[in-house]
Amino acid sequence: MAQQEDVFKKIVSHCKEYGFVFPSSDIYDGLGAVYDYGQNGVELKNNIKQYWWQSMVLLHENIVGIDAAIFMHPTTWKASGHVDAFNDPLIDNRDSKKRYRADVLIEEQLAKYEDKIQKEIEKAKKKFGDAFDEAQFRATNARVLENQEKFDALHKRYQEVMNAEGGIDLDGMKQIILDEGIVCPISGTRNWTDVRQFNLMFKTEMGSTADGASTIYLRPETAQGIFVNYLNVQKTGRMKLPFGIAQIGKAFRNEIVARQFIFRMREFEQMEMQFFIKPGTELDWFAKWKETRMKWHQNLGFGAENYRFHDHDKLAHYANAATDIEFHMPFGFKEVEGIHSRTNFDLSQHAKYSGKKIEYFDPDTNESYTPYVIETSIGVDRMFLSIMCHSYEEQQLPDGQTRTVLHLPAALAPVKLAVFPLTKKDGMPEKAQEIINDLRFHFNCKYEEKDQIGKRYRRMDAIGCPYCVTVDQQTLEDNTVTLRDRDTMEQRRVAISDLRNIIEDKVSITSLLKKLL
Ligand code: ATP
Repeated sequence: MAQQEDVFKKIVSHCKEYGFVFPSSDIYDGLGAVYDYGQNGVELKNNIKQYWWQSMVLLHENIVGIDAAIFMHPTTWKASGHVDAFNDPLIDNRDSKKRYRADVLIEEQLAKYEDKIQKEIEKAKKKFGDAFDEAQFRATNARVLENQEKFDALHKRYQEVMNAEGGIDLDGMKQIILDEGIVCPISGTRNWTDVRQFNLMFKTEMGSTADGASTIYLRPETAQGIFVNYLNVQKTGRMKLPFGIAQIGKAFRNEIVARQFIFRMREFEQMEMQFFIKPGTELDWFAKWKETRMKWHQNLGFGAENYRFHDHDKLAHYANAATDIEFHMPFGFKEVEGIHSRTNFDLSQHAKYSGKKIEYFDPDTNESYTPYVIETSIGVDRMFLSIMCHSYEEQQLPDGQTRTVLHLPAALAPVKLAVFPLTKKDGMPEKAQEIINDLRFHFNCKYEEKDQIGKRYRRMDAIGCPYCVTVDQQTLEDNTVTLRDRDTMEQRRVAISDLRNIIEDKVSITSLLKKLL
């Protein structure tokens, strides 16, 4: 675990050192849980967004995009339930004065039991080799059974307090924390306050006169911008059910515990798609979208074992199914995307609060109804973090040296090709520039002439650039260059005129999209 934490720290400093992510307002020592993306970060982030946008809007004839404003009429948030219920249960430790989410403390405790079970299984696997029968081991090993019992008991209690009548049972949550002996990781004590609800929306005022100003909110999710535009899009686009509306944009949450770098931020970006369907078909569509979205993730080639679904224990009262796609981060399996079957809750609420009829007239059956919705909601920043974590490697080389390399999927890499003149003489810089001038219309290229070639390679490895080209004496004679591959470090001689063909397909978003079909 400590080793994993070290790796995570290294990734955070790598992100800063190589222009991916900086703390916001860095010269003023940063702002809690707010980050800026640097020159390489913004490219990677834009590529992630493109991969998502194109997979939704280009690959589905019945999905269109919008870009709604961050500010919305305040009644939106009354209707959506956010004013009354967008709360997290928080608890303070009186000794360390640190604040925690009570639900997270309990979920971490559950994960501890799971970890203990997993460790026993790993140990036994090593011991028994091929003869190991996991099901039998789980059913008979005393330590596994003991931890499974503890897990089940806690899980049951947790579900009860989360689904208590009239909302979360806050006293019950505190009691669980006390009974489980959960301590504050900083002070090590159990000196906890009561659990309280805390609304996560940021407020501000619109309008300048004393009587005219009204409280508005920074949107805590992009989804509501889609719901309030359902009629506009359906009518102007003459959309027939089923159809989807996709959107990428900023969201803001005053998170209580904002740690783990860009995993939990107060200002972040979401990519959400609301898929409007006929009531009664939602569970089929839910299953389809689960599969489609998992495929989108696994298509990046990080290995299926690094993903899992986590079905929700606590369903919002309006949802009839919900799952998270979790990714194996250095700090455990964590949610990257949520997929929710939201019934007709949001559209009905907006109809009620706005007094407008928000329905769909079905030409096939001649009836009108409020569509149901399946939502897929993914955080750009969490996706960014998962990609960084998986791509980062400190590699031991055969010559005893180490190199830090980001094995980014080529289509997402900020820079696709670096071009180096071997020396600054004999027209090599001009030749290198010529290559860039030709290829820059097709993908992102970078020119580098400083330091020895070896050092330049290392710098490009560190930002995940998949290809480097070196212009040398021979180039001037026969128009060939050495093309070096980031992952294998192999070099081969290729004609300048072939470069585009060799590289373009591998680094384009299209190459990723094609694999989805
Ligand atoms: P969590 O339980 O981690 O707080 P959530 O279930 O509240 O997340 P959703 O409301 O389902 O999250 O939001 C959808 C997605 O938006 C999440 O899967 C995540 O990728 C992203 N997201 C949510 N909150 C944050 C945040 N504070 N910082 C970065 N990304 C976030």
